[in-house]
Amino acid sequence: MGFLEYQIDLFSFKKSKKKRSISPDFSMDTLVAFRYHPRLKKSIRCNYKGIFGKPELALPLYMKEEAFMPARELAAEWALLIQKRKTKQNKEKIKEILDRFWTLVNQILIDQGNKCLTSKTRHLPIQPKGEHYDLEEVLAAVNETYFNSELQCKITWSNRIGGQSFHSIRKDPLSEKPFHLISISKGYDTKNCPFYAIAGVVYHECLHIKIPPKIVNGRRVVHGRDFKRLEKKYIFYEEWMDWHRKVLPLNLRKIMKIKK
Ligand SMILES: [Zn+2]
Repeated sequence: MGFLEYQIDLFSFKKSKKKRSISPDFSMDTLVAFRYHPRLKKSIRCNYKGIFGKPELALPLYMKEEAFMPARELAAEWALLIQKRKTKQNKEKIKEILDRFWTLVNQILIDQGNKCLTSKTRHLPIQPKGEHYDLEEVLAAVNETYFNSELQCKITWSNRIGGQSFHSIRKDPLSEKPFHLISISKGYDTKNCPFYAIAGVVYHECLHIKIPPKIVNGRRVVHGRDFKRLEKKYIFYEEWMDWHRKVLPLNLRKIMKIKK
């Protein structure tokens, strides 16, 4: 490294911006204040303090961490809404924001490696890390090999016990933007599952994004001719199908037994 480069390095090091710290006591976007209560876990409460009746939100203590900042902002939005007149439209919006709030809270808890709260929301969090396979790694490999890394989607282990793999569309709780979600059957998260099998099912679900269902003569065609033709492009198609038919049902039966 030359002297000049070294100088530049030093300079850029010095210039690196200091992160602005975020106060956990106030909303950044609204006038809502936050207080934390160790006894709260799965609920939030709202009081109105002061002459201006500014909302003060009581949140569970774990939400004081910076990671929960986006969730706190959603809660603040909720606090402002419940102050308003309870029209039918407003009531629906309140319910929707609360649902998005708990969806986000659960996702943050899971991302931090914690347990999520029991069914507070319609959607369970996205959990790509399994016991044997990290689905994000499998998806990245399949995406690179077969889709030029151009496929935009998220992936999770399915929460339906003994369930099949499927593709769905969800909304991001924060931005409300829709995204594709691939859910993979837990029967694949086993020691006896070879990589070609899990890559096979991930490829199949990816194809559902690339080739959306079509309506032909009033019927919804999911695995049409185009789909089947492309599905067979997977180099271990036969081997995966064989595993899917013979081993997967046994794995699922085992999982069902354990859960009982
Ligand atoms: Zn399918």
